[in-house]
Amino acid sequence: MANRCVYCKCDLDARKALSVCKSCGVKVWGLKMYEAIDSQMNDAKETGNLEQGNIA
Ligand SMILES: [Zn+2]
Repeated sequence: MANRCVYCKCDLDARKALSVCKSCGVKVWGLKMYEAIDSQMNDAKETGNLEQGNIA
């Protein structure tokens, strides 16, 4: 299944936990916040703790 950005619908890396591309993420959250969210999501996926719809 293709992983697409929820904002611009561009294709994303299928391994990426966050469904927002970098350019949209930076526009929405700013670079620092985007990077923090992106790394948190990837960490959660790696450890199996990602609960869809339960992201604080
Ligand atoms: Zn995008």
